[in-house]
Amino acid sequence: MKPMGPIPDGFAAIDGELAIGGRKASDLAAQGTPVFVYDRAMLDARVADLRAAMPPWLAIHYAMKANPFAPLLAHMAGLVDGFDVASAGEMQLALEAGMTADAISFAGPGKSEGELEAAVRARVTLNTESAGEIRRALAIGDRLGIAPRLAIRVNPSFDIKGSGMKMGGGAKPFGIDAELVPPLAREIAASGAEWRGFHIYAGSQALDAQAVIATLAATLALTGELADQAGVNVPHCNLGGGFGIPYFPGDTPLDIARVGEALDAAFRVLPDRLAETHFAIELGRFLVGEAGVYLTRVIDVKESHGEIFAVTDGGLHHQLAASGNFGTVVRRNYPVAVANRFGEAAAQREQTIVGRLCTPLDLLANKVALPQVRPGDLVAIFCAGAYGASASPAAFLGHGPAREILA
Ligand SMILES: *Cc1c(COP(=O)(O)O)cnc(C)c1O
Repeated sequence: MKPMGPIPDGFAAIDGELAIGGRKASDLAAQGTPVFVYDRAMLDARVADLRAAMPPWLAIHYAMKANPFAPLLAHMAGLVDGFDVASAGEMQLALEAGMTADAISFAGPGKSEGELEAAVRARVTLNTESAGEIRRALAIGDRLGIAPRLAIRVNPSFDIKGSGMKMGGGAKPFGIDAELVPPLAREIAASGAEWRGFHIYAGSQALDAQAVIATLAATLALTGELADQAGVNVPHCNLGGGFGIPYFPGDTPLDIARVGEALDAAFRVLPDRLAETHFAIELGRFLVGEAGVYLTRVIDVKESHGEIFAVTDGGLHHQLAASGNFGTVVRRNYPVAVANRFGEAAAQREQTIVGRLCTPLDLLANKVALPQVRPGDLVAIFCAGAYGASASPAAFLGHGPAREILA
């Protein structure tokens, strides 16, 4: 047997079935599988818990690349203070979801001329990622007669210790190296553009509160130094985030109460230059990851060389991350359950759950302890609310995309 990750708190059973958003798995699957189901009440609870833990003057932004499903975005627009987008397509979805332009910021290397123009016209903040991009945005603003809203994404010299994906520290395609930032900040502030401040993102999927606290402290210190060196005020500062969720055996939740206390203490001793700064954090998976479940139906159960394989109608074309092929080095099992017999005792023999793609990569749960799986059963893969449907190769092998439901 191989262990699996912890099933997130908050999932109950109704009539012996996993319930998501108060509805039984079999009802949610009745219109067809595979289906991603996102639990609205769990999204509400997550944002409420986070707000309770964080200082009240900290804005909470949703990094929508984690899950851009339109009904979920519309729901999140009513819960958080801003959206962070990384393409003109995402920007359009953010505006359609009802988020106001001045609460949207647009990061990402390689913004095209068309994307820069769309953002300037929409009055969305551009988190600029190079000197060239700053000059292109300023030129577009001149041409259109609109003062562009410009912030600088800083490539810090540090990253979050032990984080899942490094996005800062050393040579990176993201942001502008910290030492090059002060003259560029002065240039924007003097240009007639609307100077918005800094965006500093140092990593992702961190579960260690101490590491997150150290990174936030370093980020605040860097913000103060850059402001001093540039001689500019900082109207807004996006501190990044990188708050992780437990996916794998042994993972424990991030202690957000500790992070919030440390941030509160840091905010009380800010240098004068940052006294008026509006601070935000931008979170993706932490807000939506645990609220999503991927439901897939078992088509076939077979044995090969003494191992039991349950073949489902889903796979890595929808849930690449659970197969272990999205940014992980060693494959480990996500939390998984038999949704129509939720809570039933595990069978004696271990079982392997695979997808229907003709590749050995399409492994959803390897040698796990589950109730004995039969054709027609529904398998639930948890932690499917972030980097699922939109981060998987849905066209691979031609089975088509999964349905999505906000329940
Ligand atoms: C991807 C990304 C995020 C969200 O990361 P999570 O791990 O989902 O919280 C936030 N900010 C930036 C700049 C990103 O690229």
